[in-house]
Amino acid sequence: MIAIELTDMCNHICRWCTLNRRSNILRLDIIKKVAYTLNRREIVFTGGEPLIHPRFTDILNIFDGFNIGLETNGELLSGKFMQIADKCSWVKIPIEYLFVSDIARVRGCTSERIVRTFTNIKFLRDTIRNRRSPCKIILSIKYHKFNIDELIDIIDSWFFLGKIAVAEISPVRHPRFHCDLPENVRDKLIEKNYYNGFIIKENPGGDIPILRVPATCKGYEEIQCLLPRSIISQKTTKEPSGSIPV
Ligand code: SF4
Repeated sequence: MIAIELTDMCNHICRWCTLNRRSNILRLDIIKKVAYTLNRREIVFTGGEPLIHPRFTDILNIFDGFNIGLETNGELLSGKFMQIADKCSWVKIPIEYLFVSDIARVRGCTSERIVRTFTNIKFLRDTIRNRRSPCKIILSIKYHKFNIDELIDIIDSWFFLGKIAVAEISPVRHPRFHCDLPENVRDKLIEKNYYNGFIIKENPGGDIPILRVPATCKGYEEIQCLLPRSIISQKTTKEPSGSIPV
């Protein structure tokens, strides 16, 4: 998997975020070049918040035919439901706590914005269903010292999403927050798995991409040397006809 950091800006300020915030938006010409150079068809759009990128829908079109993942905090999904349901294989959205006010506190935003985010997740679910898309919603639930007691309740509160969703459980790495998954909680997770078609998956190591294209990149040459030979297409750099104008 190759991660493409569309921007290093974010509309949230989560407490354990390691993002080096600047105000870079990855240039469209670099994105196009990456798309036409890769022979791997698996990419993930990440950030910052990737939906801040002003050409996000164009970018989805550039990667037509790819297996696309999207990591988003969910607040800016509105207005892009159809394109995302049609083009993405999965959309990963974090859920930190059971209560809206607690999530708002750790993300440094208002409760209204979190309610909007929840509404967006439901709309995305409905759009995926209506369009019979294979896209999955992955609820990324990071557990830590301060939410471990409510982990099962958090998962229960999202079971209504049904089979199009996966709950992915992983630990927060930050030393002030980190804790191991207690045995009794793991037992309960095993007991609840597949309830209503909703899958619970443990992902203790997280997904590590083979390459991350940073939003700070100012020219294709900067990342060219980082691209492992195995993922460069023999055809390289030839752009398909009817491509999106930069
Ligand atoms: S949503 Fe992600 S990128 Fe944005 S502040 Fe939170 S952890 Fe950082």
